[in-house]
Amino acid sequence: MATILELREVPHWSYSALNTYLNMCSLKYAFQYVYKTEQERTSASLPFGKAFHTAATTHAKNVMQGKRMTLPELHEVFAEWFKVECSASSNLVFKNGESINSLIEQARFMLDALLARWIDWDNIVSVAHAFKVNVPGLNKPLIGEYDMVIKEGEGTTIVDWKTSAQRWSESKADKDFQATAFSFAYLMEADHDTIPAFRFDVVTKTKNPSLENHYTQRTKDDLHRFSLLALAIERAVKKEVFLPAETSFICSDCQFANACKEWHRESAVKHVCMAA
Ligand code: SF4
Repeated sequence: MATILELREVPHWSYSALNTYLNMCSLKYAFQYVYKTEQERTSASLPFGKAFHTAATTHAKNVMQGKRMTLPELHEVFAEWFKVECSASSNLVFKNGESINSLIEQARFMLDALLARWIDWDNIVSVAHAFKVNVPGLNKPLIGEYDMVIKEGEGTTIVDWKTSAQRWSESKADKDFQATAFSFAYLMEADHDTIPAFRFDVVTKTKNPSLENHYTQRTKDDLHRFSLLALAIERAVKKEVFLPAETSFICSDCQFANACKEWHRESAVKHVCMAA
């Protein structure tokens, strides 16, 4: 199976792209995926999340081989990757009082929580499992990567690791678009005939980090709705329906805030408005 990096080399849809259009802001989607506008800023939480993912992936791969990593080993993996990701990020910005070193220190406590609450010792099927599936009617395949696939009882569960500034509410996983997209993808893969369970392992980025397992399950009806949403998004993108979501929760952290401020002054947009 190809890696996610290889799959990204050809035109595709990803959960992130669909989610950006649908649940964040269609104009942000356009800046990021269509116009390829240079990012004005990168929140340090992005490289932090990537490095945490790498550490969790490394740990899971070791578990599959019957090895247990210690906290210092895991922390070293995190620190190394976090520095790499930070230096690859343009215009990195930190929240008040944060720095590369303070975030590396914070990660130690979060990784400690991950190790202390790890429950998948002998049931891991695959780690960093890339997928590519066709969504009926879409012009491009849907690609992605399951962080971990495990066996639980008779069934299969897809696990996704998240870092979060706060604890998730009880209902958040049930509404999450990623769980829907990934459940859809899993069912579409050749040898699968059952919708898997989905589990978010959420580690809080707080003073006393905790790890909580949030389970959710999608139905066939949910997946049908997902495929129609994906089709509608593709059609809207083709027609260049890109509008600022003026009160989006993402505005305060948007990498294209200045470009957005200029959006209505662009001649092409003016032309469209005047012609209407
Ligand atoms: S600042 Fe807000 S409205 Fe503008 S592109 Fe970003 S997310 Fe969209």
